[in-house]
Amino acid sequence: MDISIIGTGYVGLTTGACLAERGHRVLCVDADRAKVASLRKGRVPFYEPGLAELVAKNVRAKRLSFDGDNAKAVAHGKAIFISVPTPPRPDGTADLSAIEAVARDIARHIRDYRLIVEKSTVPVATGSRMKEVITKYRPANVDFDVASNPEFLREGCAIADSMSPDRIVIGVESTRAEMILREIYKPFKAPVLVTNIKSAELIKHASNAFLAMKISFANAVAAVCELAGANVIEVTRGVGMDKRIGPGFLNAGIGYGGSCFPKDVAAFEAISRELGYDFGLLREVQRVNEQTRDLFLKKVERELWIVKGKTIAAFGLSFKPNTDDIRESVAVKVVQSLAERGAHVRAYDPQAMERARASMNHVAYAKSPYEAAKDADAVLILTEWDEFRDLDFRKLKKVMAHPTIIDGRNLLDPERMREMGFTYRSVGRP
Ligand code: NAD
Repeated sequence: MDISIIGTGYVGLTTGACLAERGHRVLCVDADRAKVASLRKGRVPFYEPGLAELVAKNVRAKRLSFDGDNAKAVAHGKAIFISVPTPPRPDGTADLSAIEAVARDIARHIRDYRLIVEKSTVPVATGSRMKEVITKYRPANVDFDVASNPEFLREGCAIADSMSPDRIVIGVESTRAEMILREIYKPFKAPVLVTNIKSAELIKHASNAFLAMKISFANAVAAVCELAGANVIEVTRGVGMDKRIGPGFLNAGIGYGGSCFPKDVAAFEAISRELGYDFGLLREVQRVNEQTRDLFLKKVERELWIVKGKTIAAFGLSFKPNTDDIRESVAVKVVQSLAERGAHVRAYDPQAMERARASMNHVAYAKSPYEAAKDADAVLILTEWDEFRDLDFRKLKKVMAHPTIIDGRNLLDPERMREMGFTYRSVGRP
């Protein structure tokens, strides 16, 4: 099928490449001319394992192409997926201006039937608003449908998630829209759940809010474990073995970040409030998340006493491993707080330093973990990259001013670290 994607970022490019891989002819469009130019030269403008290869393969097979003009997207695709950003406004509500702009663009250029699919994460009832906008601005009598098809991919394993998702949610109002989406996803082996548009929109917000809630819950349990002398790894393992709960998203650490959880929890809380329901549970999830970061910073202070003037090595900047994405990264927030308190922070990340450099210039960047740790009073593990698990710890110890590791991700084994002579602190573990 001819398919267009408007918004060629993490979600749009991955979706486009995966749909092309499954045989569709996909045109990915983006308003950012530099991004389109880079993609046309075969360069993927962000790091996602395997994506550059998948894009190159499908460009070569002439199933995937790029453009900077939304009019071309409307002309090309029978189905048009929208995956533009829906960032938070200061009050937590979602900024839907990019969605609205794209809806107007589509209406201006639509000449015959199109299925317009929301892939961006949006508050419930955005589909209805999009329908109103397109109806208002389209030429008379041109037929169209709006559908919701929320995206559940995780950065770092986006291709595997898109190729074999746990479920494909299709929110539709017409059989025609359902048939088109079913045909698009026929080559994907995944259960398809068909709902109305509002339910599909809510499934995405409710899923992300639930996952964030699990993380905050684990972090609250970790705080109690620390006070009681229990071990949060053992506790969450025991809890997660209950099939009703499941083991995922129960890792205690420094809190959740990234471009999705913080904004989606805030947007879900805000839309619930607008609708008349006080979703106080979600405010608590947010509060615990911030408290978790503060508790980690206190731990650093407890260990170093005076942070000002100390040399601190930050291992990890991306919001999670296997990505260069630093949007709303807790690692970055921790680094910033310590730098504001006068610490000399030297950071190392396998992929995210280029992006970090563009937004944080008061921090030094090192070419290796050992260079970052040179003469450091402490190493902080802020992102659970595999590379940090497999370090030469003897070498690390040798280069540090004092061998202290404060592990915000419970990545290392406390006993082993102490045996090697490190002062080792982690989260919720004795
Ligand atoms: P992104 O910033 O990586 O990409 C969005 C792209 O849209 C950018 O390249 C931008 O230039 C382009 N764009 C903005 N306005 C445009 C316009 N008017 N016309 C054409 N292009 C335009 O964002 P993302 O991470 O891919 O997220 C997109 C949406 O998907 C968000 O709603 C997000 O919440 C949701 N989502 C993201 C993830 C994730 O892991 N990143 C997962 C699931 C859902």
